[in-house]
Amino acid sequence: MKRFNHYDASSVEEAVSLLQEHKGSSYVIAGGSDLMGCLKDHLWMEYPEAIINLKTIPGLKKIQLKEDGLHLGALVTLTELSESHTVKATWPGLAEAARRTGSPILRNMGTLAGNICQENRCWYYRYPDKIGGRIDCVRKGGKRCLAVPGDHRFHSIFGAVNKCIAVNPSDTAPAFVALNAVVKTTKREIPIDEFFTAENGAASTILDRDEIVTEIFVPRPAEGSKSAFMKISYRKSIDFALVNCAAALTIVDGKISAARICLNAVHNNPRRCETSEAALIGKELTEETAQEAGQLAVAEAKALIQNIYKVQIAKTIVADTLMECTR
Ligand SMILES: Cc1cc2nc3c(=O)[nH]c(=O)nc-3n(C[C@H](O)[C@H](O)[C@H](O)COP(=O)(O)OP(=O)(O)OC[C@H]3O[C@@H](n4cnc5c(N)ncnc54)[C@H](O)[C@@H]3O)c2cc1C
Ligand code: SF4
Repeated sequence: MKRFNHYDASSVEEAVSLLQEHKGSSYVIAGGSDLMGCLKDHLWMEYPEAIINLKTIPGLKKIQLKEDGLHLGALVTLTELSESHTVKATWPGLAEAARRTGSPILRNMGTLAGNICQENRCWYYRYPDKIGGRIDCVRKGGKRCLAVPGDHRFHSIFGAVNKCIAVNPSDTAPAFVALNAVVKTTKREIPIDEFFTAENGAASTILDRDEIVTEIFVPRPAEGSKSAFMKISYRKSIDFALVNCAAALTIVDGKISAARICLNAVHNNPRRCETSEAALIGKELTEETAQEAGQLAVAEAKALIQNIYKVQIAKTIVADTLMECTR
């Protein structure tokens, strides 16, 4: 790792001012479970001169239930989220997404903001520069994507963005999308549907380089709402998702009146299944309607030769996650 200056910020204002002072050459660090790997493997075109620690800022670690919903501080850890009785009681899909992330140690370190801002895990992109030299793919400023002609078994089944077929690996992201969350930052409030992008350089979100997430807000669900999360990975205890899915349904008089479904690890950004959602409205949730929703979720898939198996997983996980909402 190269040398950098490490600052312990004592307030959000100080952290923003440090980011602005080192504009374009600084990052904030929370749990560090993703950022440290990025630094060690020299992922980015420019090595940062400053790392600003957010964990020294008081007040960003609260889980607060208010009349309008759940207010989650950016530094709430995945363990805290998964073990919160409040979250488990009303937003079980979100608690389950946090519980299924990484290992116990990672969940103790990893924060919510870090989880939704993490970098992709494409193995060409993450290839350590010390072993055989840096691989300059499109996302690193090079001319071509190595995964398309190479090993793309974990990559996008919905095509490329700017020639890149890496997927968003976050487990909590689809849960926040299904629950229609709002990301509050030092500059604005961002509806979760607008938060993720693969078109902001190496970042996975629309955040500016001097912008910090301070809170994630999850609205209180309507009467009769249920949520669920499911994840398929090679290893159950610690692994990134091959495909994951979150769903939130409102069922009134036995019929679905509102639905939000989100797949992740299938495209550059978490993918809302809007056609599936629309098809469910006004219907009862049965094995048949759930499977129809799963089928619609993959109707536009453009899988590559080695990742076609993910289409079947995505189809099935949508149906299973919907049925999980009834349990
Ligand atoms: C072995 C291993 C297994 C993993 N398994 C999983 C998994 O199964 N599922 C999964 O989803 N993830 C997994 N991860 C990825 C990651 O560790 C977690 O997602 C974790 O939640 C990241 O949080 P953090 O606080 O450690 O982030 P950090 O590493 O501190 O930060 C990650 C990124 O977010 C930015 N950031 C952090 N906080 C803020 C903020 N408040 N505002 C703006 N930007 C911010 C940082 O600048 C950095 O770019 C795994 C990582 C490892 C190393
Ligand atoms: S998928 Fe994206 S990150 Fe991976 S090699 Fe291709 S351009 Fe690079």
